[in-house]
Amino acid sequence: MKDIPSWQFIEDALQQREQQHRLRSLQPVEPVSGGVVVQKGDRHLVNFSSNDYLGLAAHPSLIERSQRFAEQYGTGATASRLISGSFNIHHRLEDKLASMLGREAVLLFNSGFQANSTIIGTLLGRHSLVLTDKLSHNSLLQGARLSRADFQRFDHNDLGHLEELLDRAAEQDRYDRIMIVTESVFSMDGDRADLDEVCRLADRYSAMLFVDDAHALGVWGEQGKGLTYGEHRIDLVLGTFGKAFGSFGAFVACSGEVRDYLVNFCPGFIYTTALPPPVIGALDAAADLVPEMEEERREYHKMITDTRFRLGEMGYNTGSSDTQIIPLITGSEKSALELARHLEQEGFLAQAIRPPTVPKAGARLRISLSAGHTTGQIDRFLNELSNAK
Ligand SMILES: *Cc1c(COP(=O)(O)O)cnc(C)c1O
Repeated sequence: MKDIPSWQFIEDALQQREQQHRLRSLQPVEPVSGGVVVQKGDRHLVNFSSNDYLGLAAHPSLIERSQRFAEQYGTGATASRLISGSFNIHHRLEDKLASMLGREAVLLFNSGFQANSTIIGTLLGRHSLVLTDKLSHNSLLQGARLSRADFQRFDHNDLGHLEELLDRAAEQDRYDRIMIVTESVFSMDGDRADLDEVCRLADRYSAMLFVDDAHALGVWGEQGKGLTYGEHRIDLVLGTFGKAFGSFGAFVACSGEVRDYLVNFCPGFIYTTALPPPVIGALDAAADLVPEMEEERREYHKMITDTRFRLGEMGYNTGSSDTQIIPLITGSEKSALELARHLEQEGFLAQAIRPPTVPKAGARLRISLSAGHTTGQIDRFLNELSNAK
């Protein structure tokens, strides 16, 4: 008789997570105005966990153009880009972004996860090598694994280690292609990569360079065009629209030829329905607004520096954060959860991030600041954090 399949592993895995204080669950929230969400029906929380860095997700221009595009073009693209879902509005947005970023070409993707997990493997094969930063976003990790290339990770922001790995690869002389993958701003630590040095290494070892600029786009670089802006030694720039652009989707900026290649060979681009018109509308409006928001960015940058400074003064460990993403590293899962719960009681949403999303003993609160936060909200938040010390 055939054994009945055992589902016991599911209960075991969930129980283990629970014991480690690592069990995660979904909490419904309802966004209301000004970066405030309502939880459990009546609890108003100021959101310090969202990636809506410029507060564009509720901007009237994005909403208006999204509505207009829905009325004009419908709610769905109705097919993949290569079939009949490549509307004029998709092409116009790609052209607008390419010219904004000073790149030859841009190709839209439905999400950063989809782009990262499939582009790397489209450009590499079994005889290639991919080198990624140890703290790279999970989507890049998946992409590197799926690529079937040899996959090695260099210690976080340790370009000496990256150079060692490149040296070793050059000596072995057995790879057809080598790709270096890094983020410009790291999603859980809020620190930056030394892109100038990464570019120098990529040049020197003739490696392809892929930089995920998800958290810099809209926030850093000239006119918020990202930390990759103007750096033409970077072959592929990945940007996402779910963060500062206040909507959804992603893009890769690259040469026209690489774009043609991806259109023909990248499964994450080919086998999926194109982004829907209302999303394209929101993005079209965001692309107009983002470069113009210089005044907002200036104040935002000041808010980031001041907040980090004050947290440091209170004795919080903010790691090597240098951006709007500020981790408060507590070490243990339990202490991170307790701090998050305390803040929640006082009216603030700041999620605890636990392993395996971050390394062991690296549990933290991940605070992300938004240009939409008011000084009053920040002051009250910092007061509460000071009380919690
Ligand atoms: C958010 C994020 C992604 C994924 O982008 P989505 O569009 O949300 O799927 C990829 N890379 C980094 C660094 C991110 O922070």
